[in-house]
Amino acid sequence: MHSISVRDLTLNFGSHAVLKTMNLDVAEGEFIVLLGPSGCGKSTLLNCIAGLLDISDGEIWIKGQNVTWAEPSERGIGMVFQSYALYPQMTVRGNLSFGLKNARMPKAEIESRVARAAKILQIEPLLDRKPGALSGGQRQRVAIGRALVRDVDVFLFDEPLSNLDAKLRAELRVEIKRLHSRLNNTMVYVTHDQIEALTLADRIAVMKGGVIQQLDAPQVIYNRPANLFVAGFIGSPA
Ligand code: ADP
Ligand code: MG
Repeated sequence: MHSISVRDLTLNFGSHAVLKTMNLDVAEGEFIVLLGPSGCGKSTLLNCIAGLLDISDGEIWIKGQNVTWAEPSERGIGMVFQSYALYPQMTVRGNLSFGLKNARMPKAEIESRVARAAKILQIEPLLDRKPGALSGGQRQRVAIGRALVRDVDVFLFDEPLSNLDAKLRAELRVEIKRLHSRLNNTMVYVTHDQIEALTLADRIAVMKGGVIQQLDAPQVIYNRPANLFVAGFIGSPA
């Protein structure tokens, strides 16, 4: 059983076909990176998997269930966006527990999940601060924490590091990799950064114009690009 299965997915915005009969199977525990230039459809694909967009055709399966028409909250996924989207008036603890409170989870369970996420992400000393008092890297850790507390097996990350400087990006890259080997969750991670893709991915899906050009392990993409576009895109510096 695949963790995520995208079958013949097509998405049109008006007459513009943004995703074109796309197929993608993600194994349980696999780290897949969607890599490609701006506008190639990476975020659109992620949003379709998350259930934030209605697809035009095809099916989406998560852990053996057809979720094509399921609500985002019913899909068992956690999502992290490029912008942190934290609630500025709430503390870090409040931001981490907000979704769980809404789901009417018992208080003790919320506390233990928040404590666990804070420990894993090393943000325990920050729990009583508000987002305005945090650095960019700390805020992005909190954003990851909000996906973590949901205790789901599938994470979708949309360019989570692109607002950070190069040094922080390199640091958080290592942490995300460590997080993945610790949790062994399924990860679909969007980036336009070749280095990020090559260092993080089990497999990279290189996209152009709503079509996956090549889906392979990083060393295969690097050493044996399927076409000139892939060769050029992987070869060029970030
Ligand atoms: P990426 O994340 O790879 O940069 P997107 O998935 O955001 O690309 O966008 C893919 C294409 O779909 C782009 O041409 C973009 O202009 C178009 N697009 C994205 N969202 C919308 C929308 N809500 N309405 C119309 N066109 C959109
Ligand atoms: Mg995008």
